Amino acid sequence: MSTPPERPLDAVGLARSGTQVERDFPVAHFARLLDRLAEPSGQVQAIAAFRQAGEWPAVRLAVTAVVVLTCQRCLGPVRRTLASEAELVFADEGAQGLPEGSETVSGDPHRLDLAALVEDELLLALPIIPQHDAGEACALPAGEGDNLDTAEMRRPFAGLKDLLKH
Ligand SMILES: [Zn+2]
Repeated sequence: MSTPPERPLDAVGLARSGTQVERDFPVAHFARLLDRLAEPSGQVQAIAAFRQAGEWPAVRLAVTAVVVLTCQRCLGPVRRTLASEAELVFADEGAQGLPEGSETVSGDPHRLDLAALVEDELLLALPIIPQHDAGEACALPAGEGDNLDTAEMRRPFAGLKDLLKH
């Protein structure tokens, strides 16, 4: 089934039928995530396994993505795999008898914006301070440490405006 990934899903119907939905999104699709990345490259894989949790529709959402972040030590690109898995229930916050360890999702479950949920999960999975691990190249190039404009370096798209002029 190749429906546009932006199309809203009916979580109520999908939960009743116990359907698993798999979607790929380009990383560039997620504006809030892009703000935190060094490059707008990569793909996001999402697997949403819908089920009924008591009286509520629920979904186990697994997302993975390989993204390029900015190392906060050397300001170079650092590739990281983001992965998260969440148990989400479409119910009012504070509803009684929710499955243990689940989070509630508000909004109309008949018109679920899966992409927005996926982006929320990816944002939560981001490392707070991305940096190279021991064993990865992490160092300022020799002699360039003195007059480095760090404010400029922290804006990954600073050069984009110039590129677009041509
Ligand atoms: Zn580094």
